Amino acid sequence: MMPSWLILNGNQNSLGGKDGVSSNMKGKYEDSDIGMYFHCNTCMPERPADISPRDWARTECGWTKKGFQVWCIRCEKNIVNLDFKGQKMSVIP
Ligand SMILES: [Zn+2]
Repeated sequence: MMPSWLILNGNQNSLGGKDGVSSNMKGKYEDSDIGMYFHCNTCMPERPADISPRDWARTECGWTKKGFQVWCIRCEKNIVNLDFKGQKMSVIP
């Protein structure tokens, strides 16, 4: 069975990588540490070719009682729901 989420990194689609970011956004985007993204496996494959994964994705993410969840707003479905098993997290400044 396919997982309910898939991860694309910038190298799998030039539109989704840092090269695909318009020049006026590059400064801020390059500060991101994200190397692989959580994407919905239902609607991301339906992405039009002229829209980047970043522009197509409609996700919300946040803390849960057990950890952290990424949710697809378009599909109203879970993408990934992480259980930190009680481990303490710290913020990377
Ligand atoms: Zn979706």
